[in-house]
Amino acid sequence: MSFASLGLSEEIVRAVTERGYTQPTPIQAQAIPVVLKGGDLLGGAQTGTGKTAGFTLPMLQRLMEKPVIGKHYIRALVLVPTRELAAQVEESVRLYGKYLPLKSMMMFGGVNINPQIKQLHGGVDILVATPGRLLDHAQQKTVDLSHVEILVLDEADRMLDMGFIRDIKKVLALLPKQRQNLLFSATFSDEIKLLAEGLLHNPALVEVARRNTTAETVSQKVYPVDRDKKRALLTHLIKERNWFQVLVFTRTKHGANRLAEQLDKDGIPAMAIHGNKSQNARTRALAEFKSCKLQVLVATDIAARGIDINELPHVVNYELPNVPEDYVHRIGRTGRAGAEGEASSLVCVDEAKLLKDIERLIKRELPREVVAGFEVDPSIKAEPIVNGQNRGGGQRQGQGRSQPRSGGGQGRGQQARSGQAAQPKASGSAQGQQTRSAPKGNAKPASHGASKPAVPALHRFGGRGR
Ligand code: AMP
Repeated sequence: MSFASLGLSEEIVRAVTERGYTQPTPIQAQAIPVVLKGGDLLGGAQTGTGKTAGFTLPMLQRLMEKPVIGKHYIRALVLVPTRELAAQVEESVRLYGKYLPLKSMMMFGGVNINPQIKQLHGGVDILVATPGRLLDHAQQKTVDLSHVEILVLDEADRMLDMGFIRDIKKVLALLPKQRQNLLFSATFSDEIKLLAEGLLHNPALVEVARRNTTAETVSQKVYPVDRDKKRALLTHLIKERNWFQVLVFTRTKHGANRLAEQLDKDGIPAMAIHGNKSQNARTRALAEFKSCKLQVLVATDIAARGIDINELPHVVNYELPNVPEDYVHRIGRTGRAGAEGEASSLVCVDEAKLLKDIERLIKRELPREVVAGFEVDPSIKAEPIVNGQNRGGGQRQGQGRSQPRSGGGQGRGQQARSGQAAQPKASGSAQGQQTRSAPKGNAKPASHGASKPAVPALHRFGGRGR
């Protein structure tokens, strides 16, 4: 199947071809015809499936069906949860629309509002915005949403997680009633269903990956390890196995900073990216990471949302997320658009329950690998996790805490979501136990000398000290 056969115009096909895409991804093949016909769409697609082009290409085409005469009005509005995603989607809009006379703009908070006001004055056809800043503009009457014909809610599940539901509703109230609505979400919670019911009219359901499943192209592995040896294990894995372009997730901003500093001290170029960093710092870190100057990017969940790096080979969960669905999002950063990736989770005794919740959600037991020299010490007890975080206490007998505790999780509504994870029990075949670590890109061949095959692992972690 070609892009042209989907009914896209020559200008759009040319831009897509120049981008190097030869054929539509499954979500594109399904979504593009629906959107071109003008219908509403409920898209179940995780990041990495090509969903951005899935809605952007037909959106551009539909806007071009009515030529722009005189003033440019905002006719398409894409709401996204984060600045990074806003930047990424708007970049796609510009890329795919490079041969079209349409003007796009990204809009997010944390930066001076005045240049945005100026750009809006100059006329914009497609606005990609985070809800908070958009409402600031609406309040100041610097944005006119009365001509919006197409609304896209991208990564709607994440917007709800971040507590944007009220903002979204306020934005909806500013839009014309007659419009096309497209909603994309990686997961379908009851909240998402409710939002979709209120928003969409007879939507076509387009779903490319099974709900709450993880991308098939990602090889996933759990490394059981004591909590105070996590950093040493991470350093060991990165160095021993020549991992390059490693995206590491921590639960907290503070933890991200600390880990990046420590890795740097260990001789591994690393930077942290999170909500407290300035936009410039985030952009710089991302650019260096993308261009392979930076070996490791340490990120929190929210900051990582929207990071688009082709064929990212390694994602590491330095700490498991409090919300099992975030695991799916995190590892969606690797194995993107058909490329293979490796997702590694360093799991200590305190995280046994989080791991169980994840395995229940994705309906499979993840293979374990114990690395020689990092075997779990059975005398280490679990620390109670309250509100998804360690509180301290419960350590090795006769020793103090050897690792500062994790600080506050981010993102609202996390507790509510973790409560939803109750799903059928993991069917549980411990598949793929042997080591797989084929380095990519500029990496040298892997050395597995320091590892030994998995033990059936986390039974050691269960129930102790709780
Ligand atoms: P997305 O899920 O929209 O974040 O896209 C994931 C990645 O796939 C992005 O890096 C896109 O550039 C890439 N991509 C999108 N469509 C295609 C396609 N038809 N062929 C190859 N790569 C694509």
